[in-house]
Amino acid sequence: MKFTKRPVAMAVAGLDPSGGAGLIADIKTFLANGVYGMGAVTCVTAQNTVKVSSVNPASPEVLEDEIMTAVEDIKPAAVKVGMIGTRELIQTVRRCVSTLDAPIVLDPVMISSSGTPLLDGDAIGELEKLIPEVNLVTPNFPEAEYLAGEKGSPEHLAELIWERYHTSVLVKGGHLSAPVDYLYDGSSLKKYPGLHIENPNTHGTGCTLSSAIAANLAKGQDLASSVRLAKEYVTTIISAGLDLGAGSGPMDHGAALRGDFTEG
Ligand code: PLP
Repeated sequence: MKFTKRPVAMAVAGLDPSGGAGLIADIKTFLANGVYGMGAVTCVTAQNTVKVSSVNPASPEVLEDEIMTAVEDIKPAAVKVGMIGTRELIQTVRRCVSTLDAPIVLDPVMISSSGTPLLDGDAIGELEKLIPEVNLVTPNFPEAEYLAGEKGSPEHLAELIWERYHTSVLVKGGHLSAPVDYLYDGSSLKKYPGLHIENPNTHGTGCTLSSAIAANLAKGQDLASSVRLAKEYVTTIISAGLDLGAGSGPMDHGAALRGDFTEG
């Protein structure tokens, strides 16, 4: 028997049982991007491609035990933090990730595409305390306007967010007509133009992009390359044209995985 090692990434995120977003999407993304995936659940949601019917946060003690028990044995080389949900759980995540020697990518999830709040109103201040402690924050355009505290172009918002939190920021322009993302690391602004793909099935795009970035960081890529490769992955799995569910459906996370066990 020849034993092998593989880079490890961990997701701390909400559970979307329909599998398009949240932790399940993160784990599929890790697998498809060549890293071993671990995951801790912050909130159990009940949702499908049309609606979110409930959100049930884990207790802070349970979340802490999930994360710390996994990482005391298997060390992640990168961590993606997604939907956290409540103020207490953000405090728990802050404490837990501060013990890790790994880059942290934070997707500051506030609201679902179907319009359901995924973060308690009193938790935003706590989320803002987490941002300076992570390596990259990946707001979409409305989240970026909120975090910047004003309106403006995506590139201006990226610079404002860096000035406020001193954290590298990727402002995702996917909600605008031109899907261009901007990465600002305090010294240079990088532009990532995206293809506009005629596919309404984009549930979980933000979750997937941030976990693909974490996977690439776990493999040792630098931040700019990690973002570029993650965008290429998301473009590939949207372009695959999976069609499931009555609403904005999931992407085909396994589109680039073809082998002995995937056909038939
Ligand atoms: N559900 C969970 C658990 C999530 O983490 C997220 C997003 O980040 C969503 C739902 C929202 O996904 P979308 O806005 O792509 O529908």
